[in-house]
Amino acid sequence: MTPAMDESGAFCGGAAEGMEKVPCPSCGGASHKVLFTKPDNTYGITDVQFPVVRCRTCRFVFLNPRPDIDTIHRYYPPIFYTADMTPEAVLAERRGSLDARLKMLRHLRPGRLLDIGCSRGEFLHRMREVGWEPFGIDFSATPPNMFNVPVFTGTVDQAPYPRESFDLVTLWAVLEHIHDPLPMLKQVRSFLKKDGRAYILVPNFNSIPGRFMRHDDVPRHVVMFTPRSLRDMAARAGLRVKTITFGDEIFSGSTRGILNYAWKLLNGEKIADIVAQNRASDRWFEFSCCIRGKESAFMLKVDRLDIRLTRYLDKIVNRLGYGFTMTAELEVI
Ligand SMILES: [Zn+2]
Repeated sequence: MTPAMDESGAFCGGAAEGMEKVPCPSCGGASHKVLFTKPDNTYGITDVQFPVVRCRTCRFVFLNPRPDIDTIHRYYPPIFYTADMTPEAVLAERRGSLDARLKMLRHLRPGRLLDIGCSRGEFLHRMREVGWEPFGIDFSATPPNMFNVPVFTGTVDQAPYPRESFDLVTLWAVLEHIHDPLPMLKQVRSFLKKDGRAYILVPNFNSIPGRFMRHDDVPRHVVMFTPRSLRDMAARAGLRVKTITFGDEIFSGSTRGILNYAWKLLNGEKIADIVAQNRASDRWFEFSCCIRGKESAFMLKVDRLDIRLTRYLDKIVNRLGYGFTMTAELEVI
């Protein structure tokens, strides 16, 4: 059953059990505007509609209300951690992403590296191979430490690593899952040496896939960044964004399906229905081959054209700064 919401997107009668209403995670502002609501399209764990809101003070985008810190684990099914693989299979599966990360970091002189949200440790393993001294933190003990790198299981503020002791701190597709991203960025800053660097990959809400196609993985993504809001929050944490690069080599984030979206909208389908078809793996046929639930020969042609167009369009949107996946390089202020 879907709880009723008032106009501000708040659940009537207060937040439902396991849900919390929060001030803006970036500036602390209490006033926000609902942009749209979205259920758990990916895993369908609940049919609750989660409001995606934008702070009226600083324009930061976040989920509100959202599952609280004691409840969010319910939305991470075991399939989220693909644990039953050999180390070789993990490295083979992640090769493209790992190579892209190493290429992005190759101009840095090897030193001490901390990867926050390191999961099975394949990135730390590859960085060790090219001369880095790797350390990891993961909040969960579920992903096995496959490569025998030093990993602390727990939160960043519990981690036993000294202040100003790392040359490089990385967060790959982690920050958007964090309830309190500002304290996390302050921790990142405290771990960094004065001339250290942080690399943070997050989805770009201000992108065609993020804004129009609603690709954010709600409710697991509890905060959504734009280049500007990432810069603002970093500054609040004592960090400066040096560069932001857009690309889907490290983590997927494509415009694939954009023509399907447009054609379905023109045919009167609601965007929430189109998003649901696109984000649920068992509804892909409906998304790519049907109009209003019925098979359509013309829709098939649209889909084929979309496949051909995607690779060029992805290059263009990434070049223009509207790609879904962005990586910021940060330095200590
Ligand atoms: Zn704000």
